[in-house]
This record gives sequence, structure tokens and C-alpha cells, in this order.
Amino acid sequence: MRFDIMTLFPDLVDRVLGESIIGRAQEAGFCTVKTHQIRDYSQDKHRRVDDTPYGGGKGMLMAAPPIYNCYCGVLADQLKDGYDGRRHVIYLSPGGRVLTQQIAEELAQKYDNLILLCGHYEGVDRRIVEEIVDEEISIGNYVLTGGEIPACILVDCVARLTEGVLAAPECYENESISSGMLEYPQYTRPVDYHGMRVPSVLLSGDHKKINEWRYEAALELTRRQRPDLLPEELKAPDDEA
Ligand code: SAM
Repeated sequence: MRFDIMTLFPDLVDRVLGESIIGRAQEAGFCTVKTHQIRDYSQDKHRRVDDTPYGGGKGMLMAAPPIYNCYCGVLADQLKDGYDGRRHVIYLSPGGRVLTQQIAEELAQKYDNLILLCGHYEGVDRRIVEEIVDEEISIGNYVLTGGEIPACILVDCVARLTEGVLAAPECYENESISSGMLEYPQYTRPVDYHGMRVPSVLLSGDHKKINEWRYEAALELTRRQRPDLLPEELKAPDDEA
């Protein structure tokens, strides 16, 4: 999977995605993250990328031409790299459909290349969205100052579903949300921590019993913390619909 991120703050994105699992996945060639500085594509002598909105209002808006030129630069860069995957252009926006694990899975399956546009200030000129964007995605019902953190979140959760990024598919298949409920509680050494002991079944070596315990513990946790994830038949009798 290749990610191209159009942004005014490439260092921020590079720093976040250059670390830990996604950083190592890039080094190992399982995914590629390329950032593209929109300002480099401004034709203004001061490299300006924003302007005041027509009709008045506070704040500045990112203008369409530098973003369009940057997008053309991304396509040219892909051509130079001999890259020709299934492409999808996303504008990170509080107005988009809200990111879920299911959407991340859909993106990981359907596309080889996500081109992400990060807005800033009051956002972007609507015409660039109409022109180049396939879909708007929000990371939640709140407003941030820029699209860089949302882009990092989207890349992180899609990239970890890409083959090779995690040690094995089981790493994400059994965890919270993916499996349809929260993950069961997990424990590591020491057995006794501040007087709280690891449940004895987990020390028994009986894998049938361990799996049964994990299922019941996951169900109980989900009923308590996220009953909205459960189908009606698994909800606790006194849960509200
Ligand atoms: N004026 C815009 C509005 O009311 O929709 C908000 C602009 S916001 C201050 C600046 C940029 O941050 C947006 O263009 C978008 O790229 C990003 N952003 C803010 N909140 C976001 C969210 N919840 N999900 C994804 N991107 C977000």
C-alpha cells in the first residue's frame, strides 16, 4: 500500500509515521508513505497557499491552484516511480463519513494507493474537493486545526491491515471492534500485581477453558463498556436498545 500525503506540515506527518511499527514497515518495504509539501507548488512569489474567503468571514482558506499542482506532482512522482496502483483520493474533513474499522478494512482491500489531502486554517476551496477528491473522511465529530493528525490516524489503521505490517493477521482479527466486540482482558507477568492476581484459568494450560473464559470476559466487558457494538441477541437483558 502506498500513501501520498499532501500537506503544509510534512515534517509532522513524517515524524509520526516514521516511528515504531509503521516506520519499520516502511523500511521493510511493506508500505510506502510519501509526503508532499503543498507550498512547493504555489506560484506566488511568497509561496502563499491561502487567501480570504469570498463573501467574508473570519480566517483563511487554502486556495485550489497549489493543491491541484501538488496533486499533479504526486501523479508525476508515481509515474517516475513506475507506480500504477488502484488509487483513491481522500480529503480529511470533519464533514466526511466518520472513520471506523470497517471503513479502514474496505480501503485496505479496495485500493493500493491512498492520496490524502490535509486541510488547514478554515479548510480548502470547495472546487478542489469537487475536482480531485473521491471521498471525504472524518476521524470523529470534533474539529481539529489541521488534517495532519487525521491523516496519520487513517494511515496507521489502514497500513496495519496491509500484509506484512503486523506479524500475523490474527493480530488484528481477534482484537477490539474487528471481532464485533471488545477484546478480552489480557495479563502478563507478574502473576500477582499489587494484590491483583491473573485469573487462574489463564495459568491452567487448558486452551478450551481459556478460549471459553476469553469469550465470556470479552462479552461481559463489551456489555459494560460498549453495548452499542453488540447484536440484539448478545446484549444484556436490561440494556437499552
Ligand atoms: N471550517 C471547517 C469546517 O467547519 O468544516 C473546519 C476546518 S478545520 C479548522 C481545518 C482542517 O482540519 C480541515 O480542512 C480538515 O482537513 C482538518 N480536520 C479538522 N477536523 C477534522 C476531523 N474531525 N476529521 C478529519 N479532518 C479534520
